[in-house]
Formats: sequence, structure tokens, C-alpha cells
Amino acid sequence: MNHAAFGLMARADEVAAVARLHADAVDKEGRFPVEAIEALKRTQLLGAMIPTDCGGGGASLETIAEICAILGQACGSTAMIYAMHQIKASSLVSHGLESPWHRDFMRRCASEQLLLASATTEGGVGGDLRNSICAVVRDGDVFDLDKDATVISYALYADAILVTSRRAPEAQSSDQVMSVVTREQISLDRTTGWDTLGMRGTCSEGFRLTARAPVAQILPKPFAEIAAQSMLATSHLLWGSLWYGIAAAALTRAQAYVRAEARRKPNVTPTGATRLVQGSALLDSLKSALADGLARYEAAAATQDGLSSVSFAIAMNNVKINASETANAVIQHALMICGIMGYKNDTPFSVGRHLRDALSAPLMISNDRIIANNANLMLAHRLGKRIVS
Ligand SMILES: Cc1cc2nc3c(=O)[nH]c(=O)nc-3n(C[C@H](O)[C@H](O)[C@H](O)COP(=O)(O)OP(=O)(O)OC[C@H]3O[C@@H](n4cnc5c(N)ncnc54)[C@H](O)[C@@H]3O)c2cc1C
Repeated sequence: MNHAAFGLMARADEVAAVARLHADAVDKEGRFPVEAIEALKRTQLLGAMIPTDCGGGGASLETIAEICAILGQACGSTAMIYAMHQIKASSLVSHGLESPWHRDFMRRCASEQLLLASATTEGGVGGDLRNSICAVVRDGDVFDLDKDATVISYALYADAILVTSRRAPEAQSSDQVMSVVTREQISLDRTTGWDTLGMRGTCSEGFRLTARAPVAQILPKPFAEIAAQSMLATSHLLWGSLWYGIAAAALTRAQAYVRAEARRKPNVTPTGATRLVQGSALLDSLKSALADGLARYEAAAATQDGLSSVSFAIAMNNVKINASETANAVIQHALMICGIMGYKNDTPFSVGRHLRDALSAPLMISNDRIIANNANLMLAHRLGKRIVS
């Protein structure tokens, strides 16, 4: 990790301190983590992935993943908002550099620290990212969009939303584009609320989204390429990293509990110590899987078609399934270690928020859906037999 990346990490620690302070209130009140997001803007971390020649930090995906893990240890909702914002930024960086409008918009993202949200989920297709019902309707140089967007996190706080739709009213459901629409171009009518078990601060309400914007704001590449080459990997790796952070925070509380037990009874190994070993082994395996996934991403990005290959898609899907399940398993260990002190919401060993936040992980693009996708891909895939290569 280079000097600049360490600087970003120090800023992430600063934001995490703010996020930690408000995490319980954000969770309890189901409110947007306004203090932490302001801190992200103040420390310029929202523009971390934007290329330096557009005024951003030019950070690698690995650095952004580390930031997500740091934030995840403090407040799951803040970390998820940061990850979702960066997933959108990665689509701009990967597919918008050749387009004058998007290049200019990236400059604005960096200088004004704009917050980006995502509207892919749609009534009727649910979490099936690669199919849309709504369509872009062109009218000369402008287009209209009308989407039943059943989940848009922090829509009311975002400066722009990246929306998927069909390319035109006559296009097939999988013939999609992604458009950037800015706050003043959007109208949002709330259709559903967000009173959930966890990730309560993401404020992921449902809206009927209507927008009118210049055609130049539609990303030039088909969404099929955007999904394969930037969204798939960045979503799974950044989500996985913040779930790792949540699990690490819960296990840290469990470790503090075991230490306190050991101090109380100096000559007896606390019951929870064995589970702590099991939890930490799982956490280590998750860390290795994420590090391997990030290395695979770097290697695939350096080749012509690496990011579009079947083996890469399977690997990234596996990272998501593994990370979402392992994070939950680690937190379950933490809960068993802390017992009733972990179950209660008002003790230093409470892991309720961590558990509830992490329960969203297998649903966020349903693991069942991802496994079904991988089942199809496996038919065309040769299993690897080597450890290092
Ligand atoms: C914290 C959080 C924040 C979110 N933020 C956003 C956001 O900002 N923008 C956005 O667009 N979306 C967002 N989402 C939505 C998310 O990305 C998924 O689209 C959504 O969680 C899927 O919802 P679903 O379970 O109703 O839909 P589906 O994916 O349709 O799944 C419904 C059920 O059907 C089953 N199923 C469906 N298809 C298959 C299949 N092919 N094979 C096997 N089983 C299948 C699944 O098991 C699942 O239980 C967010 C979700 C969460 C939890």
C-alpha cells in the first residue's frame, strides 16, 4: 500500500470515530448517518476513487475495500452507504472516462463531494439486476424515465442517482442502459418505508422515480458490460469488506468479554475462549477470501477480457456468498460468547446491531439468486486445481 493510500486510511479512521459515536442512535432512530457522511465529505473520501486528473484521490479498489472495512467496524449503515457510493463511482470511472459529460461530472463528484445512489431494483423484477421493465424514452436530445424503484438507499440525501432501465421502449428486458440523473432532474414519490431489522441508517425506501435529463447523461456502454466489468466485482468485494468490518467489531467485543472473564477468574480458561478461536479462524478465512478476491480483480483488470470471463464471475459470486455467510457465522460466535450481555442492547458487549446489520448480507441480491446464476455458469467452467496461480 502506497503513501497516498495510508493517508486515505488515516482519514477513514477519523470518519470511523465520528460514525462510531452516532452508530447506536442511527440504528435506533433509523436515521441517515448525517454526521459520518459530512465527515466523509470533509475528508474528501467520497472522491477517493475518482481519477487524480479529474481531481479525485485515484485510489485502488483495494484501498476503498480497506476503508469499507474500517467504517464497517464503526457503523454498518455508514459503511454500506460508502460502499454503494463507491460502486456507482467505479461504474463512472470504468465506463465514463471517454464521455465528456461523465468526465465533467466526475470532476464535480470530486470537487463538490457529491453522494451517488443506485436504482437497480424494480417492482416486478426485484433483485434481478440484468432485467428492467422501465425504459428510457428519448425525445430529441433529452430522455424521460419512470421507474418503480422499490429500494433506493439514501435517495433523499443523494446528489445523483444511477438508474438502470431498458435502452428504449421497444428493447428487450435485458437490453439495458445506466443513466446518471442529478437531484434537480429527479422527482421522487415515496412508495414504501424502511423499518427494518438492520442497516436502518441506509434509509432504503421505495420510490416512484421520474426524471427528465439530456441523453448525454446515459453511460455510453451497454449496462451488460457495466454490470460485468465494474458492478459485479466492486459490489461483492466492497460489500464483503464492510461485512468483514462488522464481524470483526462483533468479535472484538467478544474478545473483550473473554478477557474480562479471564481477569475475574485468573486460573480458569473462560468458556468463551474456544469459541473465540473458532470465530477468529472464520474471520481470518474471510480476510483471506477478500484479499484473494481483490488480487483476482487486479489481475483480471490488467487483461483484455479478464473482467468478463466466466471464471472471474464465478469467483466474485463466491466471494459474496462466502462473505455474507461467514460474517454472520462469526457474529453468531460472538453472541454465544457474550451470552445475555451480547443479547442486551445496552452493554459494552452488545452485538445486536452487528447481527441485525449483517442479516441483510445474504439478501442483498439474494444468495439463492447468485447460486442459481453460478449453477448455470459452472456448466461452462473448468475447476482450478492449483493453490497459487
Ligand atoms: C441494506 C440494503 C440496501 C439496498 N439498497 C439498494 C439500493 O440502493 N438500490 C437498489 O436498487 N437496491 C437496493 N437494495 C436491494 C437489493 O440490492 C436487492 O435487489 C434486494 O435485496 C432483493 O430483494 P428481494 O429479496 O425482494 O428480491 P429477489 O432478488 O427478487 O428475491 C426474492 C426471493 O426470491 C428468490 N429468488 C429470486 N430469484 C431467484 C433465482 N433466480 N433463483 C433462486 N431464488 C430466487 C430469493 O431466494 C428471494 O428470497 C438494497 C438491499 C438492502 C438489504
